[in-house]
Amino acid sequence: MEIKGYKNIELSRLGMGNMRLPLREDLEGKPIDRERAQEIIDYAMEKGINYYDTAYVYNGGDSEKFLGEAMKKYPRDSYYLATKFNIGANPDYRAVFEQQLERLGTDYIDFYLVHAVMDHNYKKYEESGCIEYFKELKKQGKIRYLGFSNHSSPDTLRYFSSLYDWDFIQLQLNYYDWQYGSAKEEYEICSEKNIPLVVMEPVRGGRLADLTPEANGLLKSAHPQWSVASWAFRWVKGLDGVQVVLSGMSDMAQIKDNINTFDKAGALSESDRETLMRACEMFRNQMQVPCTKCRYCCDDCPAGIDIPFMLMKYNNYKLNGAWVIEDLKTSEKPAPKDCVGCGKCTGHCPQSINVPEIMAELAEQLK
Ligand code: SF4
Ligand code: SF4
Repeated sequence: MEIKGYKNIELSRLGMGNMRLPLREDLEGKPIDRERAQEIIDYAMEKGINYYDTAYVYNGGDSEKFLGEAMKKYPRDSYYLATKFNIGANPDYRAVFEQQLERLGTDYIDFYLVHAVMDHNYKKYEESGCIEYFKELKKQGKIRYLGFSNHSSPDTLRYFSSLYDWDFIQLQLNYYDWQYGSAKEEYEICSEKNIPLVVMEPVRGGRLADLTPEANGLLKSAHPQWSVASWAFRWVKGLDGVQVVLSGMSDMAQIKDNINTFDKAGALSESDRETLMRACEMFRNQMQVPCTKCRYCCDDCPAGIDIPFMLMKYNNYKLNGAWVIEDLKTSEKPAPKDCVGCGKCTGHCPQSINVPEIMAELAEQLK
């Protein structure tokens, strides 16, 4: 396992995320499948992963409980625990911290995070007094390193990262968001302050584990032995500011593939990086509809559909999954199912977008 020094300790480059552990689907409440999850943890420990990430809210608290049970058999100094305080779930930070120690069966947390800082909640965190309290716990040795996980805009990240001399920040970082989102800017904000990064969503919730057939083919032709997902890990671990890359591993195949990727040190070569960026562009172009929102199509639509809005939802759905179009089911606007397939829109479209085909796909998805 690749290792990287952090302050006066050594951390595995790959961290075990405990938010997508296998579940007992047959039982009420779908608790974590202890047997299968323990197998994953034991394999992770055997292969040298020493960073274990969870949170107060994961699996309604079952993730922390499970991790406490699973790690009992290992010496406490052979692994590092990371967990998080979520103000939305329970604002009583004193009680939450005590509960977390109990769930995890420990008297200190190695990496403690203010969870999911966003534009709408960062003031709440700031004004609650929790940061001062956690700083005090750090002085007492109950927290070793204090950080936060970020889901906010770059401006909020810049502000929040200046509130305290944070030991680390957990950031969503992957090659797609680097190219087409704000990940590069966020990385640079943290780099300017020399704050080490723990990476979440390196494979964008699994979306970068399987691109389009052509983009997958391009990557496979460059390195037939590498999985498509492993390209995302190889890319992100090559960034200087990255300390640990988290993966929420839910089965043995996944952890074995990841261990294989992190077995040896080394980043992507210049030519590999170029290949990856070409695949990324190909993926985006093939998956996304190039609507420019000119609205030339709108006036003649007999169904009155807000076509550019629906195409924006479609692009979002292709990238992030069906949950992002759930709101269309209850919307009062004319819906994709109202499309009569007349094709008038495509006739007006400078991008020649096959709108009726997309409306049919959305309608099918929304059934
Ligand atoms: S094909 Fe559908 S979306 Fe396009 S103009 Fe006709 S009804 Fe409207
Ligand atoms: S005409 Fe084409 S590009 Fe313009 S808004 Fe309609 S679908 Fe989008």
